[in-house]
Amino acid sequence: MKKNTCHQSALDVALLQYDSVAEKLDIEPGIRETLRHPQFAVEVAFPVKMDDGTVKVFKGYRVIHNNARGPGKGGVRYHPDVTFDEVKALSMWMTWKCAVVGLPFGGAKGGVTCNPLEMSKGEIERLTRRFTSEISNVIGPTTDIPGPDVFTNPQVMAWMMDTYSTQKGELTPGVVTGKPIPLGGSLGRNSATAKGVVICIREAVKELGLSLNNLKIAVQGYGNVGLNAVSMLHDYGCKIVGVTDIMGGVYCENGLDPKALTNQLEKTGSIEGTPGTDDLSNEDLFGLDCDVLIPAAIGNQITQDNAETIKAKIIAEGANGPTTPEADKILCDKGVMIIPDVLANAGGVTVSYFEWVQNLMRYYWSEEEVHERLERIMTESFTAVLGAAKEKGTSLRAAAYNLAILRVSEAMKLRGISS
Ligand code: GLU
Repeated sequence: MKKNTCHQSALDVALLQYDSVAEKLDIEPGIRETLRHPQFAVEVAFPVKMDDGTVKVFKGYRVIHNNARGPGKGGVRYHPDVTFDEVKALSMWMTWKCAVVGLPFGGAKGGVTCNPLEMSKGEIERLTRRFTSEISNVIGPTTDIPGPDVFTNPQVMAWMMDTYSTQKGELTPGVVTGKPIPLGGSLGRNSATAKGVVICIREAVKELGLSLNNLKIAVQGYGNVGLNAVSMLHDYGCKIVGVTDIMGGVYCENGLDPKALTNQLEKTGSIEGTPGTDDLSNEDLFGLDCDVLIPAAIGNQITQDNAETIKAKIIAEGANGPTTPEADKILCDKGVMIIPDVLANAGGVTVSYFEWVQNLMRYYWSEEEVHERLERIMTESFTAVLGAAKEKGTSLRAAAYNLAILRVSEAMKLRGISS
């Protein structure tokens, strides 16, 4: 997978995307400028005892970009490339994402610079508990609610919830989302991001007059989003022609079998070498002859270096920030329909919102109820963004930003400036 080596940081990209839309909007200059900066940002350094008895110091971050529409909401990422600036960018994207789908949340994000793939379960638990303690005055069910992101999972969320609850002296399930079901997790949360991606693809396919049957799909990333999206799209009758993960990739002209991919992943830790498939590199994945490309890994993957080679008609951004502004322009000029991250992957945070609501009510919904509500929010949001894009003659990304920035700035204006 391409490393984030491009000179343009995620924060540069987030600001460019924001500025390009905000400068055309009729919003107060003070509000416009405020939204360029995170409202609150902490950097912490903390020691963790490793299995070999040594002590390692890790850096962690939590950033609330904006809370005008509600408490901060956003995942915690464990990855070697995590930086303070990246977390700031990701928190800004969360503000727009929550606003695009109309959730009563602001945007936040957290991260720890570490490589969980090289750590034991015990080390990850100790890191999680210490990080949670360090940020326990920031997070809370009415202030800032973490959730899962790259390389964090329900178990990590359970440790966060337990550490926070122990410190506060009361069980507080609403402090994090994406928890295991027995601890107040929501049914349907695990597959929610992929479900949202698939709903957006289904609606885009309708709009372009295509059919899901035999639609050729290429997916970068076989984590929570990639794996579930592949399986759902396969069930819809689509043909998954190529998939890559962090170690390698697989190709099959006649369509890959999701069960075989998952078996291989469980056996070897990668989908690479799945029987009956040919090897596929990341660069070749982007150039594949396909209808839909789903970048579902990390940011900065579709750049000006590979945008020209992309043949897909639709790109659904399962990851956050996978497309640089230069690549975005090249692809828009080619007529590719890009469903932006702030819309395409909003299904995850939407069901996180449902989880939080259920935790506060202490009343839990059936999986059907969750799916029905997710379906409605995603379809309506897609329709609203598409309608705005058509009306103004812009890309879906510009339309989504337009909608989100107006919603957030309206809330800020109504609240006024407290002194
Ligand atoms: N990490 C996911 C995102 O980027 C979900 C965050 C959450 O559920 O809080 O949208």
